[in-house]
Amino acid sequence: MAAPVNIIVGSHVWVEDPVLAWIDGEVTRINGQELHVHTTKGKKIVTNVSKVFPKDTEASPGGVDDMTRLSYLHEPGVLQNLATRYELNEIYTYTGNILIAINPFQRLPHLYDTHMMEQYKGAAFGELSPHVFAVADVAYRAMMNEGKNNSILVSGESGAGKTETTKMLMRYLAHLGGRSGVEGRTVEQQVLESNPVLEAFGNAKTVRNNNSSRFGKFVEIQFDKSGRISGAAIRTYLLERSRVCQISDPERNYHCFYLLCAAPPEDREKFKLESPQSYHYLNQSKSFVLEGVSDAHEYLATRRAMEIVGIGEEEQEAIFRVVAAILHLGNVEFAKGKEIDSSVLKDEKSRFHLNVTAELLMCDPKSLEDALIRRVMVTPEEVITRTLDPEAAIGSRDALAKTIYSRLFDWIVEKINSSIGQDPNSKSLIGVLDIYGFESFKHNSFEQFCINFTNEKLQQHFNQHVFKMEQEEYTKEAINWSYIEFVDNQDVLDLIEKVMFPKSTHETFAQKLYQTFPKNKRFIKPKLSRTSFTISHYAGEVTYLADQFLDKNKDYVVAEHQDLLTASKCPFVVGLFPPLPVDSSKSSKFSSIGSRFKLQLQSLMETLSTTEPHYIRCVKPNSVLKPAIFENINIIQQLRCGGVLEAIRISCAGYPTRRTFDEFLLRFGVLYPDVLDGNYDEKVACQMLLDKMGLKGYQIGKTKVFLRAGQMAELDARRAEV
Ligand code: ATP
Ligand code: MG
Repeated sequence: MAAPVNIIVGSHVWVEDPVLAWIDGEVTRINGQELHVHTTKGKKIVTNVSKVFPKDTEASPGGVDDMTRLSYLHEPGVLQNLATRYELNEIYTYTGNILIAINPFQRLPHLYDTHMMEQYKGAAFGELSPHVFAVADVAYRAMMNEGKNNSILVSGESGAGKTETTKMLMRYLAHLGGRSGVEGRTVEQQVLESNPVLEAFGNAKTVRNNNSSRFGKFVEIQFDKSGRISGAAIRTYLLERSRVCQISDPERNYHCFYLLCAAPPEDREKFKLESPQSYHYLNQSKSFVLEGVSDAHEYLATRRAMEIVGIGEEEQEAIFRVVAAILHLGNVEFAKGKEIDSSVLKDEKSRFHLNVTAELLMCDPKSLEDALIRRVMVTPEEVITRTLDPEAAIGSRDALAKTIYSRLFDWIVEKINSSIGQDPNSKSLIGVLDIYGFESFKHNSFEQFCINFTNEKLQQHFNQHVFKMEQEEYTKEAINWSYIEFVDNQDVLDLIEKVMFPKSTHETFAQKLYQTFPKNKRFIKPKLSRTSFTISHYAGEVTYLADQFLDKNKDYVVAEHQDLLTASKCPFVVGLFPPLPVDSSKSSKFSSIGSRFKLQLQSLMETLSTTEPHYIRCVKPNSVLKPAIFENINIIQQLRCGGVLEAIRISCAGYPTRRTFDEFLLRFGVLYPDVLDGNYDEKVACQMLLDKMGLKGYQIGKTKVFLRAGQMAELDARRAEV
């Protein structure tokens, strides 16, 4: 963003601060490039003129509801505006067409009631306060009027409020496209009720969010020609599988496990279930209950929601039977067997859980035991049975649990899709994307790599769109925009795709990467590591640990597990593991998660490219998940990762400040009163004012004056001198 101009003694400026990001103060002395600033917090700071930004002393006390209306569009101005509004519980703010939503961490019921929905219905965008309903309304109107597909892309880090936002969007669309007065299971009701079902099986408590979605989701809502919801399709992405058998304090496993343990006694007895504390897959963490949530109540609510989305009583029974089986399976332990590298069940308790698991999955207990501790190798000459040591047996057990759970999740999604149904005659659709934001932890692995790949893709899409919107505005006003450029991140995308499909082994993977990309400016080899690598993403550098990349990328079901479950007497379980086609080639058996994900992402991007996108950037104001706490540095980082600052930068590269002719005259007429008195046409008067002020590089459009970044401050400074 542009360096400030016209700073004089007495100017109000923003200076950088390591704790608050920015604090405001007054310039007390100027010595060449050196500035002395007295901050409002009472500090005296000496800084360089290039490091400060002018403060808008006339900023509206309640902030502005669209960032592009800020007189000074820069990082501290943006932050100040959001903070001011957040304090007033104004959690939504626009940046042009982008909606920024700051998680209130408290219920604001009036904000989302039916009355509010009615108000936004058909209201012109920008007429009412910024709101998710306004975005949904624009998408709906655009779809109805132009017959075009629309999409709403919700992003933000974990706990920022994506899923809640998505639900509000869906509620609003169901309100617009619902059939009032129709009783029973309507399509729109099914669409809404898919949320609690997916959350029960795909959400969990994490450090960052008590109800964290562990999968990405794209919901395509189809409408008929009269604007009624006529079908829907849900696509999900990359469910976190490791959570099924591995959690750490204070996180939890997927909600459904705890719900089931809190089910009415008759359900629990059927599945021989005790409290969550009894199960290895749950008791690795000491966190069992969710504050303010009753698992018993949620269990019943989930079953009701399942009923509505078309999962019948019997299927529900089977689903929970499989969930219970996974809990029992996790309690099967192994001890060293007599032979080298072999194992046996550890004790009677393990035998009990193995038997219950077999009973619930309706398979043979002996076959289950064998599938856990033995591997069969078929060579052209003979069939060899190999035994697994206890550690490998545990690996085998956990792999089985993960496979079953992820198949179960996919089954539920498929079932919801088939029961809601797709409308073959759908006129157009609105897609809503709720997908994980950019991640950068202390340790990053394959999961973060895939997630950040997604974010790079979406960022590219976002940049192109923002850029296009700017151009359209300039074209509409018939001004010249030819010299604006933006940074494309295609180079990172190319790099990631190459990293994703290496032909190498575990040991050589990282080395191979170092050799392949010695000169790539997006790829960095950390000095002290032989197994990690760093990628310079649009949102910052992330170092990935390469050790488990190849393992985590593998996507195949152990043949013994497949055979075991295909032979189950339970049709539901067999349905999760349909027999493989006889001639299944090795390649499909060993397809990688990365390549499958890449295809899914490709198809998502193709869908999105046929839609008119709308963006909502969710922001998490603090990491303690409490209301009214606004952590500046944290928020700036998120605005950067969400591309909001980049969008502002793109806009700054052009003409970020726009004022209609009369707004402009009102503000600056005072500089040359004779122009105002001259009774000229507004446009001519603006031109005369600007000429007299000797400003360079601005443009005059059809209805507005377009100023370059910093020019507004320059003009204000002159006005202050009058
Ligand atoms: P994740 O990536 O972990 O799934 P998320 O971005 O989907 O995170 P949400 O689950 O939507 O985050 O929000 C986290 C919590 O914040 C919610 O459970 C809720 O308590 C609160 N919250 C979010 N948005 C709102 C809102 N508009 N009003 C009230 N509370 C909210
Ligand atoms: Mg979520």
